[in-house]
Amino acid sequence: MPNRREFVKAAAAAAVLPALPRGRIEGGAASLRPTSPAPRAGYDVAVIGAGVFGAWSAWHLQRAGRRVVLVDAYGPANARASSGGESRVTRLSYGKDEIYTRMALASLRWWDELSGRAGLPILHRIGVLMMVGADDSYLRESETTIRRVGGRIEELSPQELARRYPQIGLDGIARAHLEPESGAVMARRAVLTLVHEAVAAGMTYMEAAVEAPGGHGRLAEIRARGGDAVQADAFVFACGPWLPKVFPEVLGGRIHPSRQEVFFFGPPAGDTRFAPPALPVWADFSRLDAITYGMPDLESRGFKMAFDAHGPPIDPDTYQRQVLPQSIATARRYLARRFPGLAKAPLVETRVCQYENTSNGDFLIDRHPQLDNVWLVGGGSGHGFKHGPAVGEYVAKAVTGSLAAPEPRFSLATKQVQQRRAVY
Ligand SMILES: Cc1cc2nc3c(=O)[nH]c(=O)nc-3n(C[C@H](O)[C@H](O)[C@H](O)COP(=O)(O)OP(=O)(O)OC[C@H]3O[C@@H](n4cnc5c(N)ncnc54)[C@H](O)[C@@H]3O)c2cc1C
Repeated sequence: MPNRREFVKAAAAAAVLPALPRGRIEGGAASLRPTSPAPRAGYDVAVIGAGVFGAWSAWHLQRAGRRVVLVDAYGPANARASSGGESRVTRLSYGKDEIYTRMALASLRWWDELSGRAGLPILHRIGVLMMVGADDSYLRESETTIRRVGGRIEELSPQELARRYPQIGLDGIARAHLEPESGAVMARRAVLTLVHEAVAAGMTYMEAAVEAPGGHGRLAEIRARGGDAVQADAFVFACGPWLPKVFPEVLGGRIHPSRQEVFFFGPPAGDTRFAPPALPVWADFSRLDAITYGMPDLESRGFKMAFDAHGPPIDPDTYQRQVLPQSIATARRYLARRFPGLAKAPLVETRVCQYENTSNGDFLIDRHPQLDNVWLVGGGSGHGFKHGPAVGEYVAKAVTGSLAAPEPRFSLATKQVQQRRAVY
């Protein structure tokens, strides 16, 4: 088993990222080598899905000394995947949900290390500003939890908030806190970097759409649609919003992919009010049914904002991803109230993505009920990205039999069909 230093050394060789060629790529010391598509003898673990959950799972399994193959239908953090796109909020605030505060804090360390090894930054520790209305229970509970687990928090009175952030309209905001060590993860860059690192350290990556496995007992192999079979001792299906398509009988109705829109507005040239350090990542929790969040103008991509309410169902393979004119109008109304300096800013980019919601927002990390060596991993539910490193570590322990105690909240048994969101 490679120790942490050896693994990281090999991984650092992947700091410059050429495109991952299609087909099978075997890991080598410092290069990506496309090899013949002929299947080699079995792997210890096959991870299906190279989004943030699958990539970190593969990375941790590889680091634990397992022979790993990572397979994705469209490519790591592809345009259809929930992990695609530019950036993701990483925050510690989760109300009373200590489990997610702990995982976010643990993950920050992994993101920081990955960022330090990468050619371009992956974690921007520019702070996260959480704002609430008259009911500040979510903020108070978050603060108690964050302090308990050793995270840092700065409470901001309305006066202090207004003094520090004059570019924010504070109508309906009663209180706020700043997480000074949290921030944003560059999403697609992070997943690509991780996959390249793991390939450089010996993992195999394949681009192939895997057929849904059937049967009972022990799964011997998976099949790529119209192609190779891949043998492994264990299989991790980290297929995000595709999970209900791959396992309709087990997960149909238990994971709901919902349509989500993202808007980028262009601040005027030279206006630094909407870029770090003047503005951190922000989240407006003044209404739990209308949470809005965004990023300052990060790496010149534009000021990002998005509404967190769940949109209608979406098929991740076939959906035509265009934002609706009425959504742009809603975003502009929000800007006029909360960021009046951007009310007339041009819309410079949009994206349509999807959340893969479980019934209450808790993740799914559990064994398949009929296939003993198959693991189901997903249900990021609009807040999963930041936890990728901790999820991957948990999956690696579960698969290698070193998990001290399974987390009941991640069990399949807790995943209902009725949507009752409880994690924010
Ligand atoms: C707009 C938006 C904003 C978000 N904001 C945040 C945020 O600020 N902070 C945060 O923490 N989280 C956020 N999230 C949530 C987070 O991005 C997701 O929870 C997370 O990316 C889910 O990752 P995943 O690996 O489970 O799924 P995915 O990234 O979708 O990966 C699944 C992969 O499986 C592959 N696949 C599927 N079926 C097959 C098959 N049969 N064979 C081979 N491959 C297959 C797909 O191609 C895909 O690459 C946001 C999500 C969205 C959409």
